[in-house]
Amino acid sequence: TATTARQPELKTALPGPNTKAIMERDAKHLSTSYMRPYPFVPDRGEGVWLTDVDGNTMLDFFAGIAVSTTGHAHPHVVQAVQAQIERFAHVCLTDYPQEITTSLAERLVRHVERTLPDGRHEKWRVFLGNSGAEAVEAAVKLARNHTGRSHIISTIGSFHGRTYGAITLTGSKTKYKRGFGPLLPNVSHVPYPNPFRPPLGSTAETCGQAVLNYLEDVLFQTVIPADEVAAIIVEPMQGEGGYIVPPADFLPGLRALCDRHGIMLIFDEVQAGMGRTGKMFSYQNFDGVQPDIITLAKGIASGLPISAMMAKESVMTWPVGSHGSTFGGNPVAAAAAHATLDLLEGAVKHPGCGDNLMDNARTVGDYILSELRDMQTEFPFLGDVRGQGLFIGLEFVKPDGSPDGKLRDAASMAMFERGLLNLDCGESVIRISPPLILTREDAETGLNIMRETLRSLQ
Ligand code: PMP
Repeated sequence: TATTARQPELKTALPGPNTKAIMERDAKHLSTSYMRPYPFVPDRGEGVWLTDVDGNTMLDFFAGIAVSTTGHAHPHVVQAVQAQIERFAHVCLTDYPQEITTSLAERLVRHVERTLPDGRHEKWRVFLGNSGAEAVEAAVKLARNHTGRSHIISTIGSFHGRTYGAITLTGSKTKYKRGFGPLLPNVSHVPYPNPFRPPLGSTAETCGQAVLNYLEDVLFQTVIPADEVAAIIVEPMQGEGGYIVPPADFLPGLRALCDRHGIMLIFDEVQAGMGRTGKMFSYQNFDGVQPDIITLAKGIASGLPISAMMAKESVMTWPVGSHGSTFGGNPVAAAAAHATLDLLEGAVKHPGCGDNLMDNARTVGDYILSELRDMQTEFPFLGDVRGQGLFIGLEFVKPDGSPDGKLRDAASMAMFERGLLNLDCGESVIRISPPLILTREDAETGLNIMRETLRSLQ
């Protein structure tokens, strides 16, 4: 695996002829709903590098939306997948236990149980699915089933997936919902405490408390009684909404509010979880807080499809046969998840990445954050730089401080043209969510491309 810094290598003018040809066929035959932010057709990957079908090699700063935790084609993951597929690829976890999924569940649960606030002992259980949306659906079903209540509260700016329950909870772009209704009944949304754009007339410091007050004093008094609410689902750090880190008092306050009213607290860790923020779960960046239910997907298995809905043993009380999935907890994906955990925990080391990939995410992330904050003095249109570990958002603003989506789109395209794969989120944000094996040297390469690009835009 490459550990020394490389530069992007662009062999053809973008898009090259093979890319163009495949993109034309793609546009004819695949769903009209797919987005294509720029012309890129991958051929193969190695570590943090992806080579397209015309031989152009690019630095990957988005990792298939925060999925490719160990980079592309990590030898440890490849080996694990190969070993399992040679034994069997599928038997159906809903019906038969399999050691590889049993041990994966035990391993995930150990990580959650380690996050228990002092003096509390609670066992956890795991339901394995295939995607983030499927984990979210399972979480909502479980919360309703367990509490006997139906109402679910989500946040504005959130993203929870594209199935019916999940799009209903999703509180970002209305294009996700237009023309698809009726959606799930009994769902409300409250603002997310974004310190850069504080809601409800609050400030960066008070926005967490403002949202908690809104729940208690407005929502529970005028919209839905608290004792009819099954769950509140929240991303401990908001992903698609713009890579937003809430103030430190928000999640502990939400935990206390849920405890007061018997409401299940669901943390959607699909995008920020699995080591990306420097901790296994992003909620561990907030002291002493643990949810009742956790959803995980994306980064679990370095790109193989598997998700987990985890819940306290006292909460996972639904009856035998009430929920299942044919492909859920696929053993080949589970093997990739074990291999990914080996690297995250440091049982297997990745050269140049310190003791384990979580530590690496933290150190390299800190470095990127401080370099980007330096860049803010040169580029006034970089309104905000925020994040934790390798979960970083770069918000573009107009001189009056409002979001500048056009400039962000131009920057994103210009970075791609210089060999840096990146992806937008929120209204005017570029997310930096590279594989967690990113070294400081490769980070520097990416930062240099960003700096050059931003200079060219000025
Ligand atoms: N929850 C969050 C926080 C997400 O970011 C996403 C995907 N962007 C999902 C759920 C849905 O995951 P999937 O696309 O795997 O269904």
